[in-house]
Amino acid sequence: MAKGVGMTKQAERGWFLALALAVLTCPRPVPAQAELGPDRCVIGIDVGHSLDKPGATSARGMTEWTFNRRLAGEVAQAITETGAASAVLINGEGRSMALADRPRLAKEGGAGLFLSIHHDSAQPQFLKPWRHDGKEGLTADDISGYSIFVSSTGSHPVQSLRMAKGLAGELRAAGYAPTLHHAVPIKGESRELIDREGGIYRFDELAVLRTAEIPALLFEAGVIVNRWEEARLESAPYRGGLINAVTQAVLDYCALTDP
Ligand SMILES: [Zn+2]
Repeated sequence: MAKGVGMTKQAERGWFLALALAVLTCPRPVPAQAELGPDRCVIGIDVGHSLDKPGATSARGMTEWTFNRRLAGEVAQAITETGAASAVLINGEGRSMALADRPRLAKEGGAGLFLSIHHDSAQPQFLKPWRHDGKEGLTADDISGYSIFVSSTGSHPVQSLRMAKGLAGELRAAGYAPTLHHAVPIKGESRELIDREGGIYRFDELAVLRTAEIPALLFEAGVIVNRWEEARLESAPYRGGLINAVTQAVLDYCALTDP
């Protein structure tokens, strides 16, 4: 029956009510994430390296990937549990993956910020043999601390450095000290320190940062070729402080209102 033809007033009211309800409850198309654009309160947490190329070997013979996977998972969970920000874990399965694919996947997942998590080593001349559980290992007991890398040739150098400074501030306030060994003028190091106190280095060529289309940084959480620092990184309270520092830095970055 057409509207208004032979309807009583009551039927007409019912018809309007039904129409209003239909409009209110009609499912609206949800915009795809690509249309929404990257969200600065969503962070891509990248597990550095892969199972087939697991990075450095710790003083006790563990792979760097094992450390990266655990810490990245813990950081991603802590950030998401705040309810104010969320995290997308990148390559938690340890697949073989091109470096440029990591920030790309983060952006496609809606992230407006990218953090690659790693654990550090030292040049071979600093490694000394030692025995642990009857096995030969290598340790560099004089090198310890976290470090943060940013690229000045990435798409967002200003925002990347801002996030790096925020993270360094949180880490320093919690009592963590940076390592400065990447600035030593030797082969394989000679990195430019942007912020000595904060342990922030410039590393323009790092593909995982250079290719990122969102603000990006790389975090070396600690030096696993140092047997003492390796033991600290195995301790949940020590990692808890690192996790809190990253989480707080992400929340502060997320709360920024300027671009
Ligand atoms: Zn690494």
